[in-house]
Amino acid sequence: MPAIPAIDAPLIEVFSSMQGEGVLIGCRQVFVRFAECNLACEYCDTPYQPGPTCQIESNPGSGQFSSHNNPVNLTEITRLVSQWQHNSNNVHHSVALTGGEPLLHADILRLWLPEMLTILPIFLETNGTLPAELEKILHLVKWISMDIKGSAVTGAQTPWVDHADFLALAKERLCQVKLVVDERTTNDELLEAACLVNRHAPDVPFILQPRTLGAGPSLGGDVLLGLQEIAAQEHHDVRIIPQIHPWLGVA
Ligand code: SF4
Repeated sequence: MPAIPAIDAPLIEVFSSMQGEGVLIGCRQVFVRFAECNLACEYCDTPYQPGPTCQIESNPGSGQFSSHNNPVNLTEITRLVSQWQHNSNNVHHSVALTGGEPLLHADILRLWLPEMLTILPIFLETNGTLPAELEKILHLVKWISMDIKGSAVTGAQTPWVDHADFLALAKERLCQVKLVVDERTTNDELLEAACLVNRHAPDVPFILQPRTLGAGPSLGGDVLLGLQEIAAQEHHDVRIIPQIHPWLGVA
């Protein structure tokens, strides 16, 4: 009899909060943050290095956490989410897979997501660089939020080819493509990103997300409006949406 593969993955944290970015802003989600990332963006403020334990919220939205050993059996997370839904009047809109880069765990996700889908649909937050991994779970995901990792902000070369391959595959499920912008963002990079979105996913909103400094955006409204006008040369639906969860003091 073939061995049943373990549905285990290294996690950073599991918690309930509101989506604070992009077109689903305000939706209540269960966030499952996976460890490990294939990039090393200069501005990254997200913990993603795997450790011996992860933090799991005790009650949804409580901000109280307890430590659990890594890797975590994801069936335990399914049970937890089911219980949270039951105890919170089904308040959650979806499960957000985030990281790090969750697609580094695509083989495990392919086994786990059918189980999770019996409770809530899946929202994938990704850096948009692993199309072959996306292919493994595309049919299990309802929304994809993809980042374009622009070199001006990340400090590394923009992976344009990977982004193009990813967009071409993800377009049916994409709800947005995001670019984090700050004072270093160049017009050339902005135009190239907008052009890429328009070529592969013309109906998908292109979100300019100002980098967050402290609790607020690092760019003023006038600068953001200028960037929006530039990007609009290449794409018809360019939106400015800052992160709002830092303002509200929630995770
Ligand atoms: S892709 Fe995301 S998690 Fe990975 S280094 Fe960049 S900002 Fe951090």
